[in-house]
Amino acid sequence: SNKDVYAVIGSPIKHSKSPWIHTLFAEVTQEPVEYKAVLGNEQDFAGSVDAFRAEGGLGLNVTVPFKQDAFNYATEHSERAKRAGAVNTLVFREDGSVLADNTDGVGIVRDITKNHGFNIQGQRVLILGAGGAVRGILEPLLSEQPSAVVIANRTVSKAEELAQDFADLGSVSACGFVDVEGAFDLIINGTSASLSGELPPVPETVIQSSTVCYDMMYGAEMTVFNQWAQKQGASQVIDGLGMLVEQAAESFFIWRGVRPDTTPVLTALRDSLKQG
Ligand code: NDP
Repeated sequence: SNKDVYAVIGSPIKHSKSPWIHTLFAEVTQEPVEYKAVLGNEQDFAGSVDAFRAEGGLGLNVTVPFKQDAFNYATEHSERAKRAGAVNTLVFREDGSVLADNTDGVGIVRDITKNHGFNIQGQRVLILGAGGAVRGILEPLLSEQPSAVVIANRTVSKAEELAQDFADLGSVSACGFVDVEGAFDLIINGTSASLSGELPPVPETVIQSSTVCYDMMYGAEMTVFNQWAQKQGASQVIDGLGMLVEQAAESFFIWRGVRPDTTPVLTALRDSLKQG
């Protein structure tokens, strides 16, 4: 075909929604883009990427377990990719250089601020979890200038490490779940506890009637965390589907210089998720 070729690479890759999302972006923007799914070789990420480039591929989204390999593969890194230590977007330039970026953080921030109308500036933010996803969102989140960010994690040392690594960007502190004090304006669940139907054991007092809760997980049913937050009287509960679509839109923009309207794509994705 005469279309420009992009793909998502991961292992496994069958269940990725990225080909579906980017194909819709190409339709709504009328960009000549073909978007595939590539099963990466876990023993040889560079080999898999080289093969894709040899076939003319212009860019990749990168998912589990290759986000760190992608960081190492690249020759240039955006500031947010450096901060994240992980990469979800690669750009293969004509001169042979490889630009790495991470759009996950800007994805969640845009979902919260643009799609849900919540202004993060001056707000108290609680983040649950200290894994790769949380590391990826801290730079874009802190650039919105919240008054304070508290990172709570099961393994407290990992939260402390993050707080240290990002201390130059704002007020960031760390603690264990049961030690979280006070109420918050925004609570982001970046743990994978919802996967196993578990709840991080934070005090109920973290939620007040104006609190907005965001679970990075999503599914056909409301996540356990969002069910709990709703029961505690949170003003709004949001799942991670918008983050998924917004990070994809940012990658599309990096590759094409065109920003797709995410609203129809998010609506269609929500419908297909509900239908199973
Ligand atoms: P990691 O494996 O890097 O980190 C997992 C985190 O969850 C750690 O902080 C871990 O704590 C914590 N955790 C795991 N199980 C439990 C539990 N039972 N109780 C309390 N805490 C627990 O995962 P990621 O950071 O990559 O992903 C985290 C979540 O974010 C996933 O659910 C993923 O699906 C979602 N995500 C969503 C995206 C989107 O676009 N919507 C994008 C990226 C991620 P500890 O350090 O103690 O092990």
